[in-house]
Amino acid sequence: MLYLHIPFCHRKCTYCAFFSAVTSGSRQDYVDALCREAELRCAEQPHPLRTVYFGGGTPSILSLGQLRQIVVTIARCFDLSQLQEATLEANPEDLTPEYLRGLRNLHFFNRLSIGLQSFSDDDLRLLNRRHSAAQSRQAVLAAADAGFHNLSVDLIYGLPDQSLDRWQHNLAQLSSLPITHLSAYALTVEPGTMLQRQVDQHRVVPADEDTVLSHYHALLRWAAQAGFEQYEISNFCRPGFPSRHNSRYWDRTPYLGLGAAAHSFDGSCRRWNVAHLQRYILSVAHGNPDHQSETLSPTDAFNELLITSLRTVQGISKVLVPDPFLQGLTRRAAPLVAAGLLQETPTHFRPTPAGLLQADGIAVQLMADSQPHPASSSIE
Ligand code: SF4
Repeated sequence: MLYLHIPFCHRKCTYCAFFSAVTSGSRQDYVDALCREAELRCAEQPHPLRTVYFGGGTPSILSLGQLRQIVVTIARCFDLSQLQEATLEANPEDLTPEYLRGLRNLHFFNRLSIGLQSFSDDDLRLLNRRHSAAQSRQAVLAAADAGFHNLSVDLIYGLPDQSLDRWQHNLAQLSSLPITHLSAYALTVEPGTMLQRQVDQHRVVPADEDTVLSHYHALLRWAAQAGFEQYEISNFCRPGFPSRHNSRYWDRTPYLGLGAAAHSFDGSCRRWNVAHLQRYILSVAHGNPDHQSETLSPTDAFNELLITSLRTVQGISKVLVPDPFLQGLTRRAAPLVAAGLLQETPTHFRPTPAGLLQADGIAVQLMADSQPHPASSSIE
């Protein structure tokens, strides 16, 4: 499982706290460094890759030549004989018919994840997105025309001034598009973002909790009606089309992450590259990508498993819980099962629909060495 981080964007969205730079100057140097890092670290992934994910940032900001350079390097460094899914995150304005044809001709990507966010020009302006509502639709249709049949889109709900009607209009638009997957996130005000400054200056008023909840329930109704299965709190798919790559993060499969700010995990040790373009590029040139790492204690690893798996519909697989933790987990889960927030099966502890809404709070209550905390909302 391989992740490549492309930390460039055309401009910064108001809500975004990801590491990304609005510059074109260092893009080729960065691509060269990314390829060099793949060569330096490919031995860390000796097994055939099943999934590859180009995330960002905005990977579709790269030219077709730059993408080809990375794909050729990956094919040289890793065993792709068992590759099932190769995803490129893309923004609608980049997906011209010509660019899409070029992507197809790379014979590598079989899935696109398109950051639509909304079908309303008012919403898109508020979020400082570059594309228009019309481009949102066109991008999906053009991608399908170009031969991409596994298409995911992202939407955001719970926006300031976004009425339930407007959100339902967004969902209705999806029904007429050839998509296989939807990631729908509640807007959160992250520290250090433009949105946080706007909120602090009272220029924007965040949606209240009841509004966000009503949007979430509209989302669930739309998914049921449209034949989309919810498999994680924010992720929905047509049967057979979950994101294989992201699903494997949730069951703690080891992965290799390349690029500035990219994280890697080998089953016990987590490592993250420096979140600084020039330091990343220079350190790779010196043969030693600048990074930090930490080794998770068994308790930390168990608690992380709770946090990620309780956001999935499948819940916590007992097979993944080490023996010393299973007894305590069963004891702490009992009141949550009695309260109708968890369901225990022979193999899993599954959140009920009500439990999924409180996933983060439930995780805290189930953690090893933790005291019960009041359950809190987890929609994001
Ligand atoms: S395009 Fe994506 S990564 Fe770039 S600023 Fe917007 S939300 Fe952040």
